[in-house]
Amino acid sequence: MGKASRDKRDIYYRKAKEEGWRARSAFKLLQIDEEFNIFEGVKRVVDLCAAPGSWSQVLSRKLYLPAKQSPALKDGELPLIVAIDLQPMAPIEGVIQVQGDITNARTAEVVIRHFDGCKADLVVCDGAPDVTGLHDMDEFVQSQLILAGLTIVTHILRQGGKFIAKIFRGKDTSLLYCQLKLFFPVVTFAKPKSSRNSSIEAFAVCENYSPPEGFNPKDLYRLLEMVGSPSGVDDLDCSSGWLEGPNKVYIPFLACGDLSGYDSDRSYPLPKVADGTYQSLDPVQPPIAPPYKRALEMKKASSQGIRDLEKLSLDS
Ligand code: SAM
Repeated sequence: MGKASRDKRDIYYRKAKEEGWRARSAFKLLQIDEEFNIFEGVKRVVDLCAAPGSWSQVLSRKLYLPAKQSPALKDGELPLIVAIDLQPMAPIEGVIQVQGDITNARTAEVVIRHFDGCKADLVVCDGAPDVTGLHDMDEFVQSQLILAGLTIVTHILRQGGKFIAKIFRGKDTSLLYCQLKLFFPVVTFAKPKSSRNSSIEAFAVCENYSPPEGFNPKDLYRLLEMVGSPSGVDDLDCSSGWLEGPNKVYIPFLACGDLSGYDSDRSYPLPKVADGTYQSLDPVQPPIAPPYKRALEMKKASSQGIRDLEKLSLDS
């Protein structure tokens, strides 16, 4: 798809470039905030799976930059934002970056060190594995990321704090909802207007963190392992059958963002400049070390190799 064509077919992609966001995902967090007011009173926040950084930009613009301009606040009182991803990302003002794997238990320790032992008010997780298109598989791998996020949450979120996590809706959504409800009395699945209807993506908005009495985060690891292993699935009876009949759960599901605003599934005409042409903007910040970089380098090297071989055979 050409740049102008993508600008036309993806209004949020175009708007992201116009407003200086690194990715269209920024609008998803902004629209979740419009509905749930998630930034109220937040001083310490963790952005899990943050690259290329548009959610971290939102956190910086909503929390750090306004506080920095406030004369009443000193350096030590500024909001702390820690962003974690497998991939490195270009710097963002007020955001501490940690390159790491959220499925690794040590990651929580690194965050706690940055917070000087204090806990976070908000944890957001927009983590996504490479989507295969096989919905069951994608949903399963995604749920593993959410559970890894939840593990970190049980170590670093303060009582009463909030957790926002990307989910893929599928046949085990009810199970996920019930698991989250163990820790948060209020869980809503939200679909921001900027998230395409054609996508199974939604966001779990979990409020008022209240782990069960006497909860030991080590118990969650056991649960994670059991859910993650094929034999454990049977032990836990995750077959959602136990959530049927009188046990059936009704998940609060809410569309958010201005409902008369831009529709992410529609094409919009491109704004023309005076001479009648349209000037597509470059991406705000291309990824600095994308996972596909090595593949491109190898492809380039092998095309060069083929050209050299062809040249050799022509010369001989
Ligand atoms: N919220 C980001 C933004 O607004 O720019 C976009 C996040 S992108 C959809 C998903 C990210 O999840 C990728 O950058 C990927 O590297 C990261 N990710 C996937 N698995 C991860 C893991 N185990 N640990 C840390 N990051 C992970």
